[in-house]
Amino acid sequence: MKLQELCKKAIDCNECPLHESKTNTVFGEGPDNAKIMLIGEAPGRNEDETGRPFIGSSGKLLSELIQEAGMDRSHIYITSIVKCRPENNRKPRKTEYSTCMELFLTKQIELINPDIIGLLGNSAIYALIGGNNIKKIHGQIYQVDGRKYMALFHPAAALYSRKLLPQLKEDMLKLKKEIDHH
Ligand code: URA
Repeated sequence: MKLQELCKKAIDCNECPLHESKTNTVFGEGPDNAKIMLIGEAPGRNEDETGRPFIGSSGKLLSELIQEAGMDRSHIYITSIVKCRPENNRKPRKTEYSTCMELFLTKQIELINPDIIGLLGNSAIYALIGGNNIKKIHGQIYQVDGRKYMALFHPAAALYSRKLLPQLKEDMLKLKKEIDHH
């Protein structure tokens, strides 16, 4: 199956309650052969309204950080662990992200086959590699089932707590270096 077909399935998906309140499905965006994949938590209001990932205030910061680190956002595949916005931006529940990952994210990762996956925030970190202490593990590389992951702060966390911003910048540079070594 191709990414485009998978995207169509996601748009029609009703396997979890999140489909009931969403406006648009936010499947993900980027080249289907991207070397870097970034995975966040869930679409927010702006993403829900447009169907595009990371375009609100955290998305704006993310774009700036990508550029500052010498990368090009259009070369990165960007998505989240769930494709539909949870109402009032609550965190996605385990049953929701497990279902969504099994149906979509796992296949997206297989199809894109990136060299490295940046996990943005604790929700993505916990869902993909099982850790949950981002303060300790950010900037570190993890090999899980033959895939390379890096834990990073979520840009929304850096907007909320400005002292995290330099650390997120540093980790973005590390992510870039990992790709350059490939
Ligand atoms: N935050 C996320 O985790 N994902 C988005 O798509 C937007 C904001």
